[in-house]
Amino acid sequence: MTVTAIVGANWGDEGKGKMTDVLAATSSYVVRYQGGSNAGHTIINDYGKFSLHMLPSGVFYSNVTNIIGPGTALDVNVLLQERNSLLTRGVPEPKLVISDRAQMVLPVHRLFDELEELRLGSQSFGSTKRGIAPFYADKYAKLGIQVADLYDKTRLRSRLEQSLASKNVLLEHLYKHTPLQLESLLKELLEQAELLKPFVGDTTSILHEAYANGEDILLEGQLGALRDPDHGIYPYSTSSSTLAGFAPVGAGLPPYAITRVIAVVKAYSSCVGAGPFVTELHGEEAEQLRRLGGDAGEYGATTGRPRRVGWLDTVATRYGCKLQGATEVALTNLDVLGYLDEIPVCIGYKLSDTNVTSHFPATAQLEAATPVLQRLPGWKSNISHVRSFADLPVEAKQYVHFVEAAIGVRVATLSVGPRREQIISR
Ligand code: GDP
Repeated sequence: MTVTAIVGANWGDEGKGKMTDVLAATSSYVVRYQGGSNAGHTIINDYGKFSLHMLPSGVFYSNVTNIIGPGTALDVNVLLQERNSLLTRGVPEPKLVISDRAQMVLPVHRLFDELEELRLGSQSFGSTKRGIAPFYADKYAKLGIQVADLYDKTRLRSRLEQSLASKNVLLEHLYKHTPLQLESLLKELLEQAELLKPFVGDTTSILHEAYANGEDILLEGQLGALRDPDHGIYPYSTSSSTLAGFAPVGAGLPPYAITRVIAVVKAYSSCVGAGPFVTELHGEEAEQLRRLGGDAGEYGATTGRPRRVGWLDTVATRYGCKLQGATEVALTNLDVLGYLDEIPVCIGYKLSDTNVTSHFPATAQLEAATPVLQRLPGWKSNISHVRSFADLPVEAKQYVHFVEAAIGVRVATLSVGPRREQIISR
């Protein structure tokens, strides 16, 4: 019986989807507890290749109950489309329960996300335009719509009236956009309510009971530590906490329930969106890593945008692991580095001519940081077929030992390819 959080130590896209898919095999519950359809988890298994945005990564196993917790930003259209696409591709009907306390991403949130990015122009944050920031703004301004509200028409109408009042003023006067009609939004939500009904439940009670019964529960994080609004690279952060510490809150479990925190770390760095990225590569060096990274190059699973890429940053990763409270690390995409004679790794930040630090600074200082790199010998071979640590080339083992020492957390698992079976446990 273990409650495990699987979370990102970097900017997201570390390969959490694959690792969750692997761990889900022995879990009874897989829970999404924060964020919405703004990040994609790539999973490659016997059914094919999938990019999940809203569904938990346990949907491919019939033994797993998949839960969308109260802390999430529920995008009903994306959720239902994903479910249908799984079914049409031969995946058996997944067990899915959506919290009646989860809140709904509304079309108006997406609209505001787009209009605000346009208004900000060159100052924009590189939003995925899935409505996430306006959604969480509404949630904390107490203007959100809970799933349970969908089944009380009078209440839903009054909640929408309250929410639309100020938005229509902004639409007309700030964004020069036509105001939104309450009736059409209400109609759309009532239609969604019917489609959603079979999946809605009290997930907090379900999880508490599962915890009391000693079931294995996997809490699946989205994005990574450096995107956390409190501790990450603000304001180039997301709008909900990406940390394992938030996982029991967003899922609805006691804070002491989690005993295992797996921080997923990528063997190099990648980043989608704007903001300082100290080890970023440019030109041909970047192109090569981008082309060879991930399962089909480093291109966003949600947006298709080319991801920014760079060398492994142990300053950022050590900080990320600390924030996550990592009890172990899963190091992914190690196979990708097999083309390099030497592998540069960032071991410090130069903040000025006289100031080199190994601490991850706040954004104001981070903007000016340049990397201090150490070069490790490459292994110059394909390791994607290797299944035991002992069989890795000596340089690959050295790389893993170096990373472990630099970030201060044991690397318990290595991923050497995008497929389920391409895994080494230590
Ligand atoms: P997530 O959001 O953390 O789940 O990560 P993404 O799915 O967005 O990005 C990870 C990318 O790396 C995907 O293309 C995966 O298929 C791929 N991937 C995961 N682990 C490995 C690995 O060990 N090696 C390689 N080559 N690709 C991997």
